[in-house]
Parts: sequence; structure tokens; C-alpha cells
Amino acid sequence: MGTGHLKIDLDALVANWRALDAASGASVETGAVVKANGYGLGAGRVARALAQAGARKFFVAAAEEGASLRQELGEGPEICVFGGHMAGDTDMIGDLGLTPMLNSLEQLTRHFEALPGKPFGIQLDSGMNRLGMEPAEWAAVADIALTAGPRLIMSHLACADEPDDPANRAQLDMFRAMTDGVNVPRSLSATGGILLGPDYHFDVTRPGVGLYGGLPFADARPVAHLSFPVIQTRVVEPGEFVGYGKTWTTEHQRTIATVAAGYADGVIRAMSNNINMYHDGVACPLVGRVSMDLITVDITDLNTVPKSLFLLCDEQSVDTVADAAGTIGYEILTSLGGRYSRRYCQGAA
Ligand SMILES: *Cc1c(COP(=O)(O)O)cnc(C)c1O
Repeated sequence: MGTGHLKIDLDALVANWRALDAASGASVETGAVVKANGYGLGAGRVARALAQAGARKFFVAAAEEGASLRQELGEGPEICVFGGHMAGDTDMIGDLGLTPMLNSLEQLTRHFEALPGKPFGIQLDSGMNRLGMEPAEWAAVADIALTAGPRLIMSHLACADEPDDPANRAQLDMFRAMTDGVNVPRSLSATGGILLGPDYHFDVTRPGVGLYGGLPFADARPVAHLSFPVIQTRVVEPGEFVGYGKTWTTEHQRTIATVAAGYADGVIRAMSNNINMYHDGVACPLVGRVSMDLITVDITDLNTVPKSLFLLCDEQSVDTVADAAGTIGYEILTSLGGRYSRRYCQGAA
């Protein structure tokens, strides 16, 4: 059985980074978030392309991700770990030169005891209540932490994709109150925050999803192009059904293609009867249920039998696909499956 094919356009990725770098402003350093295997697209290839383009700071969720990224990038670029310094991380952090963003007094103590003098950053909670030190905790440890020379002080916005949400301004004010006057580079904004404007940029920005072609960066170029091979076609007569649970029945004769893609490939089952696949710009509706390895697509409107059909392409973004599944582009990207062939293209290749 054939498998899907994922083409990753590194030129588009670099163009997105450059656009977000320009939007961050000339005096601001633009990093790149490559957690979760580069949002499903391959952290090593993504980070190497961005490092070539000038990115010097990379962000991952866990030390394990940082360790494998270090093998890909070599020495030089800074690799910051949002999850901080967890029990068991010390060797990875120390040996591979990772910079943990310390999230609590507990992590700060662990880091200072296990790796005194080694790089670290601080993550503050400015209102999201997810990661980072609370204001009172920070007030208690700020002197000690600042004496040890953190590389970065950061926080994260909960509602940056909703520019009018008052939580943005409240978090900005809180972050300022916790860090104004501190002589350490500061970072508050991911993709959404960059688009909120210069007040939110501080010294370092941390775009993730926008690099990979997702909202809220509406001007992003698509990076992932995903197609799946057609295994067979058949003509379905009026009154016949297609797929598990006979959720789709036709009133007219239709030509149905069976395609090697399923929910095991990230074609989320909630898209059943609710998404198009594309061939040469023509939309072909997915009909019936998504099963584990197969989908069925109505290709009656095509005048050929295509070799493959596209789920992600210029006509259909990760966010359109996400809407059809009741989710967000981030989840579509990170759900991309492991059994595709992958090809990275760069420099007109
Ligand atoms: C995931 C993440 C980012 C990147 O967010 P995007 O919305 O993908 O740009 C930045 N900072 C933190 C702390 C994150 O968890």
C-alpha cells in the first residue's frame, strides 16, 4: 500500500521567519520555537534552515527535545527549554549546553545546586497560570536569581490570537511590573504577540506556528503540502452507501476514489463528510467516515483519475483543515503522521 507524501517547503518556512523577524522590529532578536518535532515538520531540518537564515535562539518544550536538537545544530545556537530543569535533566542540560527556563523556586534550587554557573533563564507567570513563577515567588527569589545572571526572562500570553482581549494588556502590565528595571533580555511574545505590536516585543520574540504557515499569522506562506495516493476507484450507484456506519449515501451515480490516508495519518475522524481533497485546484469532497488507514473521496467532478489527492496545498491551509475537524492548525500540524514519505525542498529544488 502506498503512503502519504509530505513536502516541506523550507523556503516558505524561512520567508515566514524573515517576515516575523521584520515584524518584530530591528532591535529585537527573533528566535524560533521548534518544540514537538518542529510542530510535526521535523525539528532538525527546520532548525538548520532557520539557523542558516540567521536564527540564533531556539525554543523547545523539554530537555529531551533540546538534546536531540543540539545534535542537529551543533554548538553555537542557544537552545532554551520551556519546561525548565526537571529531575533527571541535569546531565542533558549540562553536557549539551541547554538553557532551562526555570519555572519555580524548586527548579531554581535544583539548577543552582546541580549546575552552578551554567546558563539559565527565568519564566514568569503573568496571568496564564500555566508555567512560571508567580509574582510573590519571583519577588522572593529575584535578587538571588538576578545575581546569577539569567540569559532571558520570559512570560507567555494566553490570548494573543484575540487582539482585543483585555487579558493581553493586563499580562503586559504584569510582566512589566515584574521585570521593569531589570538588566536582562526579556521575551513575552509568540506569533500572536508579535502581531499585537511593538509594546509586546521586548528584546526577544518566540514565533512558532506562524513559521509553519498557521494562524494567527494570516500572511504566512504554506509550508506543509500533504498528498495521499489513490489506491482504487469505483462507481457507486444511487442508493448505495460508502464506508463504516453507512454515513454517506448517494442519490446519483458517483465515482469514488479510495485513498491511502486515515486517522492514523492525522486525518482526524471528525473530518468525516466534512472536508475537501484537491487535485489541480479542483475540490473533491471526502465522503463517508475517515477510517484508520483509508478515506473515500468523491472524484466525479474530475475528468481523470488522479494518482494522488492533496489535503494540504495552496488551496487548503492547515487552518481550513482544522476548522473542519473542530480544532486548531497547531493540532493538525502536530498530528501529522509518522508513515509518510517526507521531502524537504529548498532553493528551487
Ligand atoms: C508554543 C510556545 C510558543 C510559540 O507559540 P506560537 O503560538 O506557536 O507562536 C512560544 N512560547 C511558549 C512559552 C510556548 O509554549
